Amino acid sequence: MSRLRLNIKGRVQGVGFRPFVFNLAKRLNLNGYVKNTSKGVVIEIEGGRTEEFVELLQTSPPPLSRIEEIQKEVLEDVGFSEFKILSSEDEGSFTHVSPDVSICEDCRRELMTPSDRRYLYPFINCTNCGPRYSITLRLPYDRPNTTMAPFRMCPRCNEEYHNPEDRRFHAQPNACPMCGPSLRLIVNSPGFDKFKNLSPLEAVIRILKNGGIVAIKGLGGFHIACNAEDRRAVVALRHRKGRGNKPFALMAPDIETIERYCYIEPEERRLLLSEQKPIVLLRKRSPLLPDEIAPQNRYLGFMLPYTPLHYLLFCHPIEEDRRNFSVLVMTSGNLSEEPIIHKDEDALKRLSHIVDAFLLHNREIFMRVDDSVVTSEFFIRRARGYVPEPVKLPTDTGEFLGVGADLKNTFTLTKEGYAIVSQHIGDMDNYETLQFFEEVLDNLSGLYRITPEAIGADLHPDYYSRRWADRQGLPVFYFQHHYAHVASVMAEHNLTEKVIGVVFDGTGYGTDGTIWGGEFIVADLEGFQRKGHLRCMPLPGGEASIREPWRTGLSLLRETFGENTEAWIEKLGITKRVPVERISKILKVIENPQLSPLSSGCGRLFDAVASLMGVKDINTFEAEAPMALEALVVEGVTSFYPFDIIEEEVFIVDYRPLITSLVEDLIKEEPLSSVATKFHNSVVEMVAEVTERLSESTGLKTVILSGGVFQNLYLIRRVVQRLKQRGYRVFYNRMLPPNDACISLGQVYLLAWRHS
Ligand code: ZN
Ligand code: ZN
Ligand code: FE
Repeated sequence: MSRLRLNIKGRVQGVGFRPFVFNLAKRLNLNGYVKNTSKGVVIEIEGGRTEEFVELLQTSPPPLSRIEEIQKEVLEDVGFSEFKILSSEDEGSFTHVSPDVSICEDCRRELMTPSDRRYLYPFINCTNCGPRYSITLRLPYDRPNTTMAPFRMCPRCNEEYHNPEDRRFHAQPNACPMCGPSLRLIVNSPGFDKFKNLSPLEAVIRILKNGGIVAIKGLGGFHIACNAEDRRAVVALRHRKGRGNKPFALMAPDIETIERYCYIEPEERRLLLSEQKPIVLLRKRSPLLPDEIAPQNRYLGFMLPYTPLHYLLFCHPIEEDRRNFSVLVMTSGNLSEEPIIHKDEDALKRLSHIVDAFLLHNREIFMRVDDSVVTSEFFIRRARGYVPEPVKLPTDTGEFLGVGADLKNTFTLTKEGYAIVSQHIGDMDNYETLQFFEEVLDNLSGLYRITPEAIGADLHPDYYSRRWADRQGLPVFYFQHHYAHVASVMAEHNLTEKVIGVVFDGTGYGTDGTIWGGEFIVADLEGFQRKGHLRCMPLPGGEASIREPWRTGLSLLRETFGENTEAWIEKLGITKRVPVERISKILKVIENPQLSPLSSGCGRLFDAVASLMGVKDINTFEAEAPMALEALVVEGVTSFYPFDIIEEEVFIVDYRPLITSLVEDLIKEEPLSSVATKFHNSVVEMVAEVTERLSESTGLKTVILSGGVFQNLYLIRRVVQRLKQRGYRVFYNRMLPPNDACISLGQVYLLAWRHS
């Protein structure tokens, strides 16, 4: 007989680990203790069956836990007389913070059981589910360190909390209608005053059923909701929110309902049902829902209810045996590009022109965190449910900070070989987002006790993120944007070798002062070389052309047809959509290099083609035109347009032959679906062709794909397939979005490498 001391690392706190250990030890007649430390969970056990204990811990741990490492030490017996759960101990090293977890099956059952004391209680939770990251002020994760601190548990909750055999043992947010948070309703439009005297939940359901729009305080921030089947409500919401055509996220009570509107592949089903409950982009199946939800989009973003409150919106018994709604719009409660709102007073101030009522509650949201958005291949937005789950790097690291890029910003902190990537922060060009950046940084560096010794930033001299970095009084290392994209994929997949990187995105600052974005580079962790790129074209009016693809369309025609441009503008009918004076003005602007910076951005090529096809002339949100183009793609078209690869110092992909053939197809009135598909196929061929040539000259066989353009499911799948057929190892962003949200991870990986 001997004493065994175990130190367990991974996601082992806030996931019911200690009660699990307690019960297991009791079952095996072992004495000793378990305690949370900031280095993980420490267990000491004595008795005959210690090996069996370790075995069972490894083979069937609690469902939400992820054991990464078990250190084992055999010590002398001390003669424990019982098994105890000791209180948390604070030692100051790397420890995991659990992301927020969607409501579990047990809680859902209790929620709908009339005899249960938490029947219809919107804040029901247990050790296996509920808020975590969003309510955690500091570590260790104990109730006084969360926003549940002001709520004193009633005797019955307290008993559950202290009973190791109860599902709510040490469930920090444990609550019931007697002692926990509660809802509050504020009606904003006089037309809905008549519902004021109902319970807040019933009132909100009635308001939504009557076409109203409601701000609902959720887990990580506010949603703005309306009945998605009510076209008038959807149109009113789009109008009041004033954010152009940006798609609205949807929530449905179950998979079967979603299946009525969308196709669901097995992997998508898994994601929808996962404990994270992200928004999953699904192929539209039928036009049953109003088109205004996601105009000209191939996909609808659906999620399942992830809090008890969401379930109650659908299932609170108001009318016998009927769901209250099939689908609700649940869009982020924010103004245009600002961060999601999470405080009652902000919501009341800033959303009052949008909503007819507010459904508030008194459990404070400490860390706001948006809904995550995913496809079966990649993330589009990584936030709730996933953050702050760290990325394990292949090397031990010091403490560093990467501040990312200015669009879709995230930052990354490193410590002891882990990279903690922040939730989606947003676009850094407004004050609120910058504040949010600092708020999350304060929180995460505090939680993980990280004091960065150096900062990684983008090379772009005008990025707010970089300027912020420059003000911190720490050494700053600047990394080229597309190199950081490649490094982010290397970090995710723990690669350290030399690779071919293909980065297609909108814009990134190049080392030669031009705007890059259709890049082929050869890179390792020491450095990179630009080996090829899409042919550059002028962006008339710079930034303005990103919002107005018709400008890039003209530029592309000018590049392709020179003197004959105006004839083609006429033939393609662009003069019918854009006033002639604006066209001639932009044609002059194109000639002026001061006003029209050169860009090799692939996103701009998609924009331009979308406009030439008459699909989209204006982007009311980022990548609207490319998404509309993707929406036209059909299966079964395999042909593509010709293009040239010119070998200068580097490979230049000349797309002018493509444009010549494409506009001829348009003149012949070929179906837009086949033109769009052929265009996509051409981009696949470009990647395959240049990669092949680079591989021939370098001998490299590993290819990395990154950049927002690869957020196109058709494109990424074809490119991966094509490259794999030719014998390449292909890697792309799986844990982070391929858009600029991955940049900060790339920066810290490069930074850590330089300092190791
Ligand atoms: Zn639960
Ligand atoms: Zn209670
Ligand atoms: Fe980028």
